[in-house]
Amino acid sequence: MNSDSVAGAPRSAESQPARRSLLRGALTGAAALGAGLTVGASPATAAPKSRPRPATPGEALRELAAGNARWRTFREKHPDETRTVRQELVTGQHPFALVLGCIDSRVPPELVFDQGLGDLMTVRSAGEVLDEAVLGSVAYGVLELDIPLVLVLGHQSCGAVRAAVEAEESGERLPAHIQYIADQISPVIDHTKEGDARIDATIDANVRLVSSRLAAEPDLAAKVASGDLAIVGARYELTNQLVHRIA
Ligand SMILES: [Zn+2]
Repeated sequence: MNSDSVAGAPRSAESQPARRSLLRGALTGAAALGAGLTVGASPATAAPKSRPRPATPGEALRELAAGNARWRTFREKHPDETRTVRQELVTGQHPFALVLGCIDSRVPPELVFDQGLGDLMTVRSAGEVLDEAVLGSVAYGVLELDIPLVLVLGHQSCGAVRAAVEAEESGERLPAHIQYIADQISPVIDHTKEGDARIDATIDANVRLVSSRLAAEPDLAAKVASGDLAIVGARYELTNQLVHRIA
């Protein structure tokens, strides 16, 4: 397993061809967004063809790793922003990865993976914690759009994790709904460490927790078992802009 980047899919995920249907994804997406099916539209025109779409978990991971390499070396391509792509996407979408990340303004998935329109489905919550809306959003991307990769993306210096750790240490309750976020993170606070090291270790532990909870969802687990889906935990470093896998 390559620890330097997100590349390197689980072997089992690459051993079987994905049964992903680009056409189904495009039509389903259009219908779900209320656009309905365009009368007279040829199926061949429904799928954007500007560049090859990763169709397997392994391909999707490699594309994210390549995009992150461009980002962190200031060689971004800013793909899929052209007039042509915008027109192609009117008839549907088939993003190749779903990124569940934090709300932090320093970690926008499309930027740190150098992706464009129609490439990523992004779900963001503070500390990438789960609730029914987040779970439903992930399920929609995987089950309805056949996305082959779910990447749970934590990050260095996560304020949500810091808040959870500090709330536990102080015993004070956080305002309004912020306590919900802390409650989701608190089971994995790393008490073997102190201070900033505790926060840093808890960031990783939280990624593992969220990933394992997603992997325990029966519908997602079935897709993982058949090789059509990988659920991967990763972390973004603010200091060098590298995304690397969390084992
Ligand atoms: Zn964060």
